[in-house]
Amino acid sequence: MPNSDFSYPWFASLQAQLDGQYVADKLPHAILLTGETYSGKLVFATQLTKRLLCDETKALTTVTPVACNQCASCHLFEAGTHPDFAHVTPQDSKQIKIDQVRGLIAWVATTSQRNGLKIAIVDPAEQMNHQSANALLKCLEEPSGNTFIMLVSSRSGSLLPTIRSRCQQYAIGLPERSQALQWLQTALPDRDDHALLLDIAGGLPLAVTMQLNDGYLAARRVVAEQLAKLCSNQTTALKSVAEVQKIEIEDFLDICQSIFSDAVKYDATKDTNAIKNKDIADSIVQIQNHTEVDFLLAAYKRSCSDLRIVRSTSNPNKQQLLEALWIDLRSGNPHVISHFGL
Ligand SMILES: [Zn+2]
Repeated sequence: MPNSDFSYPWFASLQAQLDGQYVADKLPHAILLTGETYSGKLVFATQLTKRLLCDETKALTTVTPVACNQCASCHLFEAGTHPDFAHVTPQDSKQIKIDQVRGLIAWVATTSQRNGLKIAIVDPAEQMNHQSANALLKCLEEPSGNTFIMLVSSRSGSLLPTIRSRCQQYAIGLPERSQALQWLQTALPDRDDHALLLDIAGGLPLAVTMQLNDGYLAARRVVAEQLAKLCSNQTTALKSVAEVQKIEIEDFLDICQSIFSDAVKYDATKDTNAIKNKDIADSIVQIQNHTEVDFLLAAYKRSCSDLRIVRSTSNPNKQQLLEALWIDLRSGNPHVISHFGL
């Protein structure tokens, strides 16, 4: 579970809205929290759950603005043993399986063991397979007492329409840029490149912290360098694949998507100030100089669709995806363009 105690100012208005609904006894029993990957949906859901379960919260009177971290409920929550909280998330694959949803349905039918409230988080909801989603539907149709079910999703469009229609939807949006920068200055006081980091992360402060932790920034430089060499015929696809082999496939495709998007922008503007990845502008300029814009667009589309495949598949064939994408890149426009039907 993500850190539930950190403060994220851009959650404030949605937090106030949901707290207000809870106090007025109008909080919907089925909630769908949407937002981009790394927008903080799960953090928000976790914080809300912990605050609602906290002994400082009194239904129809008050919701504690911050979980107290002192009460029995907060201790149980942090220990991952709160009997009135269920977190349904993929276990040994990327799918939420039918048995997990059956377990949730059984749990919903039990009585609360503490203050009468029970909360479940289903995350990411789009990873329910068809059977699981249908099973959950029944559960959403028959809300039971003080049980709240929160679905968290960055691809809510792929949920069953019947699931979406039974939930009240709330979106976690991008923070204001000034607010995000201010937060990053506090969270990362030792760095002086907050604006660049925020651009690279698409305006999502939580993505910045994730990218710093897992070597994403260094991986970006490797991918940009290899793409620039590949597009200017200074290397072969197989050699390049070997260079990027250690990078997580999801990061790799995310990086490709961002670089090609910037190369298209640079093609249109010839201005490196217009691109997100300013620290690797040299490589992006080189990629654009050697590549037709139709091809850059095709490569961008390809990275996006491969990324969708990787995020929804249990065991993507990394080697195959990498080689196919890079061999296409190396082989030039016509193949890729026909391959994607552009
Ligand atoms: Zn507490």
